[in-house]
Amino acid sequence: MDFSWNDKQQRLHERMLALGQPTMAAAVPERLGQLAAEGVLGLSIDSAHGGGGWDSLSTAYAYEGLGATLADGGTLLAAGAHLFGVAMAIQAVGTPAQRERWLPNLAAGQCIGTVAATEQQSGSNMGAIKAVVEPAGDKFSAQGDKCFVTNAPGADLFLFVGRHGATGRGLTVALIEATAAGVTVGTPLQTTGLKSAQLAPVAFEGCTLSADAVLGRPGAGMAVFQIAMSFERALVLAFRLGAMQRDLDEAVAFSRDRALDGKPIARHQAVLHRLARMKLRLETSRLVVYRAAWALDQSRRAHTEAALAKWHLADAALESSLDAMILRGGAGYLEDAGFGATIDDTLGATIHSGTQDVCATIVGRSLT
Ligand SMILES: Cc1cc2nc3c(=O)[nH]c(=O)nc-3n(C[C@H](O)[C@H](O)[C@H](O)COP(=O)(O)OP(=O)(O)OC[C@H]3O[C@@H](n4cnc5c(N)ncnc54)[C@H](O)[C@@H]3O)c2cc1C
Repeated sequence: MDFSWNDKQQRLHERMLALGQPTMAAAVPERLGQLAAEGVLGLSIDSAHGGGGWDSLSTAYAYEGLGATLADGGTLLAAGAHLFGVAMAIQAVGTPAQRERWLPNLAAGQCIGTVAATEQQSGSNMGAIKAVVEPAGDKFSAQGDKCFVTNAPGADLFLFVGRHGATGRGLTVALIEATAAGVTVGTPLQTTGLKSAQLAPVAFEGCTLSADAVLGRPGAGMAVFQIAMSFERALVLAFRLGAMQRDLDEAVAFSRDRALDGKPIARHQAVLHRLARMKLRLETSRLVVYRAAWALDQSRRAHTEAALAKWHLADAALESSLDAMILRGGAGYLEDAGFGATIDDTLGATIHSGTQDVCATIVGRSLT
């Protein structure tokens, strides 16, 4: 097994590392536009459709670089929902006409995509959603209320998940433009963290859709949604690998510099073990993310690997953020130190894209 990166992947990673700080300096609403201008929003979209043409593994490594210097989990969540949840789903299952219509604009960031799946009553249970995509002659009509939609106020395109017909059993996935009649974005929610992700409810009332708005086969939307979630779960948190590396490097430097009783705190075994646990979580997270990305590159089916990656990385990132803060003592608890914001952001990662429990259930079911 070869764990090395080739020169092209390394150059891409370094370009992303260099991108984080200038992007961070921009005001929040402009950050997504800056990422788009640098091709970040289309990295894994085929080059024939205006994207970077990178495979999922290289894209994971690129986002890892970005996360080392761009400490804004909300913007990176919005970027990930766009690229992994929407664009990659279109690339994987869209018709040639759908790919031609949407991918160039998604790659350029002229169209920003997001997933509209969750509903208040059904929550994690996709089988219980109430939204409907109803066949109506040669068209479809979409109806339903979605909640917690990432970047809803800034989105141009929703990947909408509804029941196939009011009495149908399956799901249908539809691509609905924000400008379509009947689409209303609600007031952004005050979240604990990931503030720049701007979560909001979205109401879809009697939206008329042409047949080419349906992604995949009508009634076979669960498979389409699972493909979207496989890309999202595998890759949306890859930026956290870079953030965890940054936290570890800073924690190591601090533990060498901070001297009490004339000796650095790094001499205490408890401190060393804290650093070692951060390193262990980082390296195991890398393995599960790269493995899931690799699996996506072999075939689009990486449901279990993606759930494992998201579950492990979200937990690992949260625990390591706590360790990084505690290692600093009182100084780590000051707002300016930034750990509170990181912890709040990372808490969100344990819920979005399928909660930890749901991901664990997917992994457990794959074993039995
Ligand atoms: C930051 C953030 C961004 C989000 N972005 C989007 C988005 O862009 N688009 C979108 O559609 N949604 C989005 N969501 C919604 C998110 O996907 C849901 O919050 C999540 O799926 C859980 O649904 P729920 O909140 O209704 O909780 P519930 O499903 O009600 O879960 C409540 C608790 O029960 C547990 N539970 C539920 N079902 C099971 C089960 N089968 N097995 C084990 N435990 C279970 C859960 O783990 C949780 O602890 C986002 C959420 C957050 C926090």
